[in-house]
Amino acid sequence: HAKQRGRRNWQCYEAGMGAQVRRRQFLLGRLRRALAGNEFFLVFQPRVALASGAVRSWEALLRWDCPDGGAVSPDEFIPVAEESGAIVPIGEWALREACRQFVEWRAQGLDPGSLAVNLSPRQFAVPQLAERIADILAETGMPPTLLELEITETAVMEEFDSAARTLEHLAGLGVGIAIDDFGTGYSSLAYLRRLPVDKLKIDRSFIGALDDSPHDAAIVRTIIELARALGLTVVAEGVETESQLRFLHGVLCHEMQGYLFSRPLCPSACAQMMRDGVRLPGHLLPRPQGPQ
Ligand code: C2E
Ligand code: MG
Ligand code: MG
Ligand code: MG
Repeated sequence: HAKQRGRRNWQCYEAGMGAQVRRRQFLLGRLRRALAGNEFFLVFQPRVALASGAVRSWEALLRWDCPDGGAVSPDEFIPVAEESGAIVPIGEWALREACRQFVEWRAQGLDPGSLAVNLSPRQFAVPQLAERIADILAETGMPPTLLELEITETAVMEEFDSAARTLEHLAGLGVGIAIDDFGTGYSSLAYLRRLPVDKLKIDRSFIGALDDSPHDAAIVRTIIELARALGLTVVAEGVETESQLRFLHGVLCHEMQGYLFSRPLCPSACAQMMRDGVRLPGHLLPRPQGPQ
């Protein structure tokens, strides 16, 4: 019996593995042609200042419409692109396109505030990264001080000394640096203090757990207090409920991003939101709002 069961499990395992490997190879093959085929596009998610309820900035998020694979989620294709190195040209495309769109909004008389773009660990390790980014800024006319690059804490902590040099170069361009998915890796604020980091984005797994885990609530409160003490701006990502938002108000989190306010939007919907001056509704703001 045990032998039979073992064999059956092994077959299931093999079938599952096979499907996974085939999917990965399928994506790899498609990813190679996706840039040339114009299959990528960007959506942007607004980020709101908690004190005023106003939109402060927009995070560019990559989308892939694979012709024979449908919409593939970044959580699925970015790791594959990362592993194969394809993320380097794809990520540069995303940065250039995000800057181009941001500059276009401003040329239309809109005020998008600032722009956040993700950099994967592999991109972060590209030699002369700062020069390449400087070229993209010059090419698109993007004001460096309105750009913020989001990197994960693992990308920074794995090669701390070279990461520190890269970050110094980037900061030298005038761009802001945010640590994304904070709390999921092994970094400590004591280390981060030695880097030119401006902002922490608390990972949405902590925010999602706020409502029913006092433990996670304590972690979030502590991260925010320490970050504030170090002069960092704190963003909560993945805010979905009013009670999460109330908690974040209470602990003086600076900014929030999440479905409660808005999902990521296509560029024309973003422009409409800017035109309409959409903000967090008054009942979600911390204090009663007087006349503006
Ligand atoms: P991230 O940078 O942490 O981005 C936040 C993710 O959370 C986005 O997923 C966003 O759509 C999602 N999100 C925002 N608010 C909520 C919410 O209230 N609830 C939930 N459940 N999710 C929310 P998305 O767009 O699928 O991107 C996933 C990840 O893929 C990103 O995580 C980022 O690591 C990576 N990524 C996306 N675009 C790029 C890019 O242009 N370059 C690189 N290198 N990575 C990217
Ligand atoms: Mg991000
Ligand atoms: Mg994040
Ligand atoms: Mg995340």
